[in-house]
Amino acid sequence: IPIERIRNFSIIAHVDHGKSTLADRLLELTGTIKGGPSQILDKLQVERERGITVKAQSASLLYKHNGEIYLLNLIDTPGHVDFSNEVQRSLSVCQGVILLVDSNDGVQAQTVANFYLAFVNDLVIIPVLNKIDLKNADPQRVTNELKSLFDINPADVLKISAKLGIGVESVLESVVTKLPSPKVDRSANLRALLFDSMYDKYRGALSLIYVQDGCVSLGDSIATFHNKKVYEVKSLSVLRPDEVPVKKLVAGQIGLVGCNMRSPKEAYVGDTIHHTDCTVEPLEGFKSSRPMVFAGVYPTDQSQHINLRNAIEKLTLNDSAVTVDLDTSPALGQGWRLGFLGLLHLEVFTQRLTQEYSAEPIITAPSVTYKIRLKPTKQNVKDKSEVMFVNNPAHFPEQNRIEQTFEPMVIGTIVTPDKYLGPIMSLCMERRGVQRTANNIDNSRVILQYDLPLCEIVLDFHDTLKTISSGYASFDYENNDYIESNLVKLGILLNGTLVDELSHIVHVTKARTIGRQMVLKLKEMIPRQMIHIAIQAVVNGKVMAREDLKAYRKDVTAKLYGGDVTRRMKLLAQQAAGKKKMRMVANVSIPKETFIEVLKK
Ligand code: GDP
Ligand code: MG
Repeated sequence: IPIERIRNFSIIAHVDHGKSTLADRLLELTGTIKGGPSQILDKLQVERERGITVKAQSASLLYKHNGEIYLLNLIDTPGHVDFSNEVQRSLSVCQGVILLVDSNDGVQAQTVANFYLAFVNDLVIIPVLNKIDLKNADPQRVTNELKSLFDINPADVLKISAKLGIGVESVLESVVTKLPSPKVDRSANLRALLFDSMYDKYRGALSLIYVQDGCVSLGDSIATFHNKKVYEVKSLSVLRPDEVPVKKLVAGQIGLVGCNMRSPKEAYVGDTIHHTDCTVEPLEGFKSSRPMVFAGVYPTDQSQHINLRNAIEKLTLNDSAVTVDLDTSPALGQGWRLGFLGLLHLEVFTQRLTQEYSAEPIITAPSVTYKIRLKPTKQNVKDKSEVMFVNNPAHFPEQNRIEQTFEPMVIGTIVTPDKYLGPIMSLCMERRGVQRTANNIDNSRVILQYDLPLCEIVLDFHDTLKTISSGYASFDYENNDYIESNLVKLGILLNGTLVDELSHIVHVTKARTIGRQMVLKLKEMIPRQMIHIAIQAVVNGKVMAREDLKAYRKDVTAKLYGGDVTRRMKLLAQQAAGKKKMRMVANVSIPKETFIEVLKK
């Protein structure tokens, strides 16, 4: 297929506005799939369960327009705030996007964020209103929103129902007629951007590439800039959306390359692939996404260590936004400190560890990265500004060594019907937010901007916002700088022993409330045991809150002695199974979920 007849595009939308449904329709209409299970592109089990798209998936469609066959490369993108780096990566190989908006919900926070991403990347934007079949659909109102917020010409707005298949053809037509073909050069030497990768049990690391220049064939000898190793191309395929093997990929195409990369780390996202016998300039890679939320990940017992390590390695290949560092904890042993883009990202990652690799790790309380300026000591009077970054409560310095503490901020965007304005403003205030702007989108909806501390939104801000607005408010954020803030370490003591794995760094004004919440939650989550347990929350040695868990004396098997042996065995087995999911910390057995659950309200 000639370059003039290739189009690379993405669908961007707020979550639930119908991306996956539209993608399915486009695949159907181009004969790529025949009916079958819906939401073909949401391949991962977590995605099907949670109904969100986590990984960007791609598919190549063939579409006939005016008697000519076009190759349309569709790249599905996730919609959630935590995964905006995946969106960014998908957009880097596109020339245009379909901006999909629900014609009942209208423009939402994610729509705004996505629009600007596409806009700054100079992409052609095809505005599409979906769900026009809904009883409450109001395409006219939403068209006006697009006009007033983004200066989109109402005449350009397509109106469709992805579910019923109305107007879907017009979307494909616009993709062909409005988007430019990619700027690629088939006669040049091979340059292909490695923009995603995955791990296959049998073939090792597979790279999803976009061929920018030249072509690549089976048996070619290729190399990457990142590790300079030489590989032989063993398999090539296009995704329709299932793999279809091909012998060659030419400039403008997207495809999957297998070349016996043994270790997941070898397929480095953002890398350029080239032929070994010629020199080329590398393509522009990606801004690496900055992890915002850190948590310790430990095997439930050390025999699981190697298993967990392998699982983490393979999953991080599939999700390069996760950072991995080794970590050891006195209570939990050898493990890792992983960095995530947000709490949902963390939850999805650990759910995938369990589902795809049967690893059941312990996850400690998540934390953002704080900045701390230490007091000058006698040795370093000259270098007064010793600064450290801390994302692990265990590394928080003693109070008397601290000069200043800083926390990371975000700029949050909230779109809401105005009747929820009151509770939303209280929520933002409770989370230490400061309002920047408030503007009307139309006569019943408002767009708000707030400066908010990152740590106040990573855990449950989004859920709370949804609850207090009956699901109508939407939220998105971008990262901003650090500001000075009075932070302390809220330590958790179990029978007087400090357990850093449960401790947390908090704003000083919140120490008492959070301390109270945590000890109550711990009392509820820790089962009663043979010993009495005192649970305390402390700041600088001062007790903020305390609860006691009374000892549990009875031996559950006592009354069964001499009784039915099988029943007794069963009971003991049950107990053992229960214990397996517990962890001994400071002589107390703690269920493994406690470490992360303790922070949720
Ligand atoms: P995504 O999160 O953007 O991928 O959204 P989905 O494609 O998963 O769709 C979210 C929900 O909206 C699903 O329940 C779809 O069945 C529904 N939906 C999608 N398109 C339409 C449409 O055109 N009309 C109606 N009534 N519902 C739709
Ligand atoms: Mg989806």
